[in-house]
Amino acid sequence: MADRGVAVVTGGGSGIGLAIAEALIGEGWKLLVADLSADALQAARTRLEPRGGDAVKFVQMDVADEASVIAGLKGCEDKFGEVRGLVNSAGIGRDVPFFDTSVQLFRKILDINLVGTFAVSREVGRLMKAHGGGAIVNIASVSGLRGNIGRSAYGASKGGVVTLTQVMACELAPDNIRVNAIAPGPIETPMVKEMHNDAVRAGWLQQVPQRRYAAPEEIAGAASFLLDSSKSSFVTGQILAVDGGFTAGGLLPPYP
Ligand code: NAD
Repeated sequence: MADRGVAVVTGGGSGIGLAIAEALIGEGWKLLVADLSADALQAARTRLEPRGGDAVKFVQMDVADEASVIAGLKGCEDKFGEVRGLVNSAGIGRDVPFFDTSVQLFRKILDINLVGTFAVSREVGRLMKAHGGGAIVNIASVSGLRGNIGRSAYGASKGGVVTLTQVMACELAPDNIRVNAIAPGPIETPMVKEMHNDAVRAGWLQQVPQRRYAAPEEIAGAASFLLDSSKSSFVTGQILAVDGGFTAGGLLPPYP
């Protein structure tokens, strides 16, 4: 199998990031799995090492902390190989009514979801630029494309990721770095189990034409396509909704 180089997956300890990491192992990528949570990293190690062996490394990193991002990437290329892929999946979500959203919470969500995506992309992008290019996939959300209630902070952070993706695609194209985003709909992950109560779940099932939540593995194919320059070499600046039809929808038949 061709050596694709190293892909960094932030938030790779859980949910969507972990499912993407697992899929990339089978496609010839070496992986640097980065996550804030030591417990998530340990669980990911147990799951990924049997398949990836030495081709998977794990690092504790806070994407919202510039020094932690720089430290986490330090020496990675010397010890491991050229970084040619990045998936920014680290993120947090909260479902809070607009009037109950504190400025502190709003800032925290922006800091992790948006500033974190920027900081990691800038550092990894510098590495990519130095050796001829690569591909970046940001995990946005349908809540960055639509006005989903309870998502003033989360939706704003993901709307920011959408625009950041477009700006980066334009600015980094001359460096042969492609930048795209995936906008997932509702995906069964630890984040969603915490965030979605019965009423929220009923709302999604009503609005998603496919009438279900997806498994994290259903995001992985889109990520590997967007990272693979043999398949998506002319695709950049795009926001690919993987959402069971949510963003296509309007008036739907009643459910169930
Ligand atoms: P998850 O909680 O299972 O995984 C997120 C991971 O990010 C966790 O392992 C967590 O430890 C890590 N993380 C959180 N803050 C971090 C930080 N500061 N630095 C580094 N790592 C950090 O959640 P998930 O559902 O897999 O979410 C992954 C991404 O997908 C997020 O950006 C989320 O907003 C986005 N998303 C999820 C859904 C969904 O329905 N699950 C829908 C749309 C978008």
